[in-house]
Amino acid sequence: MMVAAVFKKDTLFFQRLAKASGLYSGSLDGSWGPLTQGAADAWDKLSAATAKTYGTFDPRTEENIASLVPKAQRAARQFLVAAKVFPYTVKILSGGRTYAEQTAIYAQGRSRPGKVVTNAPAGSSNHNFGIAFDVGIFDGKTYFTGATKAQTDAYLKLRKLTKPAVLELDWGGDWKSSKDYPHYELHTGMTTKQVRASLESGRAYV
Ligand SMILES: [Zn+2]
Repeated sequence: MMVAAVFKKDTLFFQRLAKASGLYSGSLDGSWGPLTQGAADAWDKLSAATAKTYGTFDPRTEENIASLVPKAQRAARQFLVAAKVFPYTVKILSGGRTYAEQTAIYAQGRSRPGKVVTNAPAGSSNHNFGIAFDVGIFDGKTYFTGATKAQTDAYLKLRKLTKPAVLELDWGGDWKSSKDYPHYELHTGMTTKQVRASLESGRAYV
């Protein structure tokens, strides 16, 4: 999937991601001009090279990988390659989210109907910086929600299996409070606030 299609509705967001990834030297003006197109071309080239090196996966996983910055795309593919010997199917169920997308899911169960799916408002989740993804483990059609100890153990085993292959990934299961077993993110060594400030001003954080 071309990055222009992923972020078509949010040019400013793409410019921020591209600038932080060292692919865009223009201004953060939210308008899709030649420099932005050049960044998109460079981004697509990197994405294609990574896909060629590590292979491609199911459509949902691919769609979510396409929403990550190039460095996180590579880590996600390395992760999935390492997970190939895992006895269950592993998919990436969510990836990067623009601020607008985060605001929409944050509203669910609050100002909008449905149950609460996230405690992170826009700009407070590493998903909003294109560096985090959530995985799902499936046994045939059965999705491991983590409701049982056996299912939680499967997420733990997946982390143990893949960790040596992708050392740059931090895992939500290591968090001290409210562990998030399906969650992986690129290690930045920065606080969320610092990453947010970097993204918004176009400074590198990956
Ligand atoms: Zn997550």
